[in-house]
Amino acid sequence: MILIVGGAGYIGSHINQMLCENGYQTVVFDNLVYGHREAVMNGILEEADLSDTGRLDVIFKKYKIDAVFHFAAYAYVGESVDNPGKYYNNNVTNTLHLLDTMLSHGVKDIVFSSTCATYGVPDKIPITEEMVQRPINPYGASKLMVERILSDYHQAYGLNYCCLRYFNAAGADPEGKIGESHIPETHLIPLVLAAAAGDRENIQVFGTDYQTKDGSCIRDYIHVTDLADAHIKAMNYLKKGGESTCFNLGNASGTSVLEIIEAAKKITGRNITVEYCERRPGDPPILVGDAEKAKRVLGWKQQYGDIQIILRHAWNWYCNRRY
Ligand code: UDP
Repeated sequence: MILIVGGAGYIGSHINQMLCENGYQTVVFDNLVYGHREAVMNGILEEADLSDTGRLDVIFKKYKIDAVFHFAAYAYVGESVDNPGKYYNNNVTNTLHLLDTMLSHGVKDIVFSSTCATYGVPDKIPITEEMVQRPINPYGASKLMVERILSDYHQAYGLNYCCLRYFNAAGADPEGKIGESHIPETHLIPLVLAAAAGDRENIQVFGTDYQTKDGSCIRDYIHVTDLADAHIKAMNYLKKGGESTCFNLGNASGTSVLEIIEAAKKITGRNITVEYCERRPGDPPILVGDAEKAKRVLGWKQQYGDIQIILRHAWNWYCNRRY
């Protein structure tokens, strides 16, 4: 059995689906605060919170867990600045509960959902794994703390881990069964599509005076299905005795906010009204990740690197979404 903590969320649900399609048996552990029951189309759903150590223990007793994927975290950067306690408690303290329970049940392999936000404002682009990590908000700091804890638990207790540092997860299951749905939604692509669909008046562009080709921020958008594939490869790598380590998962190509809007106009065939706004505090101008290590070590390769395809899948989901 594979335990997917936070498996009812956007990225976790895609991993759950891919695991089940590949014949694995899964248990999804999710408190459904941000996750969606409907997103768990396969496997067993255990509705529970990581702060409930008793329940966690029961679940590890009930199922024979071979490996753990850990996605459960709060991930709103702005909120993390206003309420860091919420982030450190959930993202760090609750992760300790999970790791300690794993160890007490002899479960040794974990794939951890980390983030490019651990790098802060990078000195150079594209970002490679050995570059210095200087997060600029409590969300990124909480993820970096867990990376450090995993490294220490590896040394001291023999826990094996892969930290996957995602760049901007985007897109949806190519068949449109599951996709992205955050409440509140703050991410660029779903908001752009909502504007295209007429569900929002416009899309606000946060900053037009960055030192980039068109003045808007550049991000590295990575298809959620490609992320899912990398997770399964990371788990298999650990199972084969691979060394505990961290991997960037990005496309090594940047797309600006304005380019996303232009591409979305073409894909949707709709007009999108744009409102040019001030910069959003805490936004680095450019984040692009070098994923050569994941390709070399895990044998991972993106299938959906093209931003047009990412947007097409996201639009298909947006138009037919169930949650
Ligand atoms: N962005 C924007 N308008 C929005 C939401 C986001 O201009 O309504 C920009 C944001 O400033 C960033 C990029 O789009 O440069 C991606 O933001 P998102 O929140 O999707 O992901 P992040 O990079 O913050 O993880």
